[in-house]
Amino acid sequence: MVKLQTPLPELITDPATIGALIQETRKQGKTIGLVPTMGALHDGHLSLVKASTAQCDFTVVTIFVNPTQFTDKNDLTDYPRDLQSDMDKLAGWEVRFVFAPTAEDIYPHDHVTSVHVGPLEKIVEGRCRPGHFSGVATVLAKLFQIIPADIAFFGCKDYQQLKVVERVVQDLNVPIKVHGCPTIRDEDGLALSSRNVFLSQEQRQQALSIPKALKLAERRIEEGETDARTIVADMRRELSRSGALHIDYALLADAETLKPTRTVKGPTVALIAVRVGSTRLIDNQVMMP
Ligand code: AMP
Repeated sequence: MVKLQTPLPELITDPATIGALIQETRKQGKTIGLVPTMGALHDGHLSLVKASTAQCDFTVVTIFVNPTQFTDKNDLTDYPRDLQSDMDKLAGWEVRFVFAPTAEDIYPHDHVTSVHVGPLEKIVEGRCRPGHFSGVATVLAKLFQIIPADIAFFGCKDYQQLKVVERVVQDLNVPIKVHGCPTIRDEDGLALSSRNVFLSQEQRQQALSIPKALKLAERRIEEGETDARTIVADMRRELSRSGALHIDYALLADAETLKPTRTVKGPTVALIAVRVGSTRLIDNQVMMP
């Protein structure tokens, strides 16, 4: 991607300070784009930044490894963190502020309130990671308060998360538009993810069966197959080919509600979560029959 010669983003860690800066920006009549991330930035994140700078006057990137969305404490401890490298990656992308608070800033010791999103937080990925989407919904509800932006940018890569955010914004009357951006992939088809750094060369090769299985599902639907069980069996066969992946789920669901599909009729999403060694990867593909 081509970078522009623009000033470096300003790093803010204090919620009150970023809040005041955002109010000031709003008073000037500027539109604000928000890009929430957990850092370890890659071109997938940068595509959201690009979408934001194209549509908004000011872009704010948040970098916060949100403890409440981790069900596995080791996963939280091991999550890649490198703020300086992230700041370097954001230089030249027209980002005005980077908001990188500490966990104590966001969750003071007397913090007790959390947001729940009904059945959506319990199905598919939520079934594998109890509490995960409540943690996501809670931190985003807080970030939307701290940084009242015009548009918030999210990747379709985390499809269920995108649906959760849409639900939160609608149900809590948050005056912010949610913009879903396409999944950015490496040339070999693997979706970019901060967790890909944990994959060995061999594991990376094995992980390529994820995009292959998604493509296969798409092809089957294009060919006119409507029986979800048949398509899912094909996806699982592709994922099992290397014998090295543990499939957490591979399924077809309604693209809006994420309820399981039996017969493909309308917009459908193929959702996959696998473990390659100790690295868990998720991916998806939205399809129209
Ligand atoms: P994360 O830092 O993993 O929480 O991701 C922050 C945002 O970047 C989320 O909205 C993700 O969906 C988005 N994102 C992560 N990977 C990709 C990707 N490969 N393509 C597009 N967006 C992505």
